[in-house]
Amino acid sequence: MNLNNGNFNFQLLVEASPIALILVNKLGHIVYVNSFTERVFLYKREELLNKKLEILIPKEERETHQIDFSEYFKAPVERQMGPNRELFAVKKNEEQFPVEIGLTPIVSENETLVLATINDLSERKKAEHQFKSVVEAAPSALLLANSEGKIEMVNQLAEKLFGYSRKDFIGQKIEMLVPDRFKAHHPKLRKGFHSNPTNRAMGAGRDLYAKHKDGHEFPIEIGLSSIPARNEMHVLASIIDISERKKNEEALKGYTQKIEAKNEELEQFTYIASHDLREPLNSITSLIMLIKEDELDHLEEATRVKLNYIEESSDRMRSLIEALLDYGRLGKNAEQVSVDMNSIIASVQNDLHDRIEKSEAIITSDNLPIVNGFIVELRLLLQNLISNAIKYTAKDTTPKVHISAVQNQNHWQFAVTDNGIGIPKSQQEKIFLLFQRLHARDQYGGIGIGLAHCKKIMDMHHGQLWVESEPGKGSTFYFTLSKI
Ligand code: ADP
Repeated sequence: MNLNNGNFNFQLLVEASPIALILVNKLGHIVYVNSFTERVFLYKREELLNKKLEILIPKEERETHQIDFSEYFKAPVERQMGPNRELFAVKKNEEQFPVEIGLTPIVSENETLVLATINDLSERKKAEHQFKSVVEAAPSALLLANSEGKIEMVNQLAEKLFGYSRKDFIGQKIEMLVPDRFKAHHPKLRKGFHSNPTNRAMGAGRDLYAKHKDGHEFPIEIGLSSIPARNEMHVLASIIDISERKKNEEALKGYTQKIEAKNEELEQFTYIASHDLREPLNSITSLIMLIKEDELDHLEEATRVKLNYIEESSDRMRSLIEALLDYGRLGKNAEQVSVDMNSIIASVQNDLHDRIEKSEAIITSDNLPIVNGFIVELRLLLQNLISNAIKYTAKDTTPKVHISAVQNQNHWQFAVTDNGIGIPKSQQEKIFLLFQRLHARDQYGGIGIGLAHCKKIMDMHHGQLWVESEPGKGSTFYFTLSKI
């Protein structure tokens, strides 16, 4: 179809337009409506023709929106009716709906008419209303700004967060919320976002701050989303006050530093104290030896027995001091390497050869994984667990020890299971503390430091160590190590 050859029927085009088109004369009377107008306003064409345009405007708004047509026709120009105001139209059934009305003069030889185009904004308003409700209900402060950075919408949480009321915000530049020292730089960042508007967190890797109405600054986190609407890119900023989180992080950092310093101090103390205790102990031991060498024959039997007790006690004290020194030394200057747990078990079995042979213990293990860890300490861990498993069995029982490992998402969980005497539930935590034992020395020997060592070794590996046990049936000691 050639639209330029004059044959085309423009009336048909106007008639079929999906927008209400109304022609009005100088007196404000309707002289033509298209069929879409009938559909929108629910009037028949005949009911509208020769009526004043006001028939389509709600009574209470007529005064505000009245157009003085004779004035308009003196200098008719194309313009929007009532710009910056909400306009409503009314249907025959008196239902009102939001509209946009455009006025265009149509000049012909005999008269000038004005074409009113009426756009139904109901859907757009509904969507805007929904958007506003979502913004209002959001759990963080939200600000909507246009492409020039002017604030168009805020929710209640934004009012609360920044101390401004809604009307203080609207129309202001978003820079009103930026601390002075960042203000100059901010418009550039804003433009940067507009040239590449991807939804993202703002200021990755930087600490962000906002300024409250009363001038105080506070740390924030901002998420930015671009929202295209009405031929423009808008930005929705979601803002969270992270003062509390920052404060907690700082406090936690402080506590960790203090704990580390205290730990260091404690280790130093343990080391020095045990080191210094050795000296008087050596003197006691030498004196006992001297008495035994020189004066044993002159001593009464009762005194000899006492002397033996003193000797035994000082030997025991030496063991305790050595154990403490070992405990303090654990992990010092050690480096993590990859460790084949199968070879650790083999070397521990080798070291415990005499004890295994004597007790006729049966040690079995699954195929174990390779892990990252401190090799000397891991050997000590298994040596303690396996030797305890052999030691704490009833007299008439052959010790059976099995070592296994299962993996879950992040780590390996090892288990050392025995058929020993077991540990009552009430004691299962206590045994991991320094020098805590559950038995008399003549029943089962030991000084109660093995499991404390194990605990410290697992702490070094950021792993867990615990026991599950039933008295009379046996125990399983579990420990976890990160997967490589
Ligand atoms: P020690 O063996 O020198 O006493 P540990 O720290 O290794 O010190 O163990 C602490 C206590 O835990 C032991 O005295 C014992 O009562 C209990 N225990 C450790 N391992 C086992 C086990 N496999 N079965 C039963 N009891 C155990």
